[in-house]
Amino acid sequence: MTTPNITHDAVRIATQGITIATDWRELSACRDSDPTLFFPIGSTGPAIDQITEAKAICVQCSVQEDCLQYALESNQEAGVWGGYAEDERRRLRKRWLAERRRRSL
Ligand code: SF4
Repeated sequence: MTTPNITHDAVRIATQGITIATDWRELSACRDSDPTLFFPIGSTGPAIDQITEAKAICVQCSVQEDCLQYALESNQEAGVWGGYAEDERRRLRKRWLAERRRRSL
């Protein structure tokens, strides 16, 4: 029997090839990616290609919705989160906040 490996972020139980992660970050497709893709400097020039490359990884990510939700809730201003660049996420967050306010009435 395999002993569970308890990490700071998640509990993984590796038995017969099954892995259970308790934190969505453990399943992120960008986990081992170059961070400069997700946190480019600026939004012009080389940053455009970096953002495009980051978004291509996000499209394939199984936790894209969790990531976006986290970014909206915690107001992450920098970088690509959940497949959205900073300016896109700013607009999306305005709509998200408006919808939240509407639901709480
Ligand atoms: S959606 Fe994109 S930024 Fe978020 S965890 Fe997945 S790959 Fe990373």
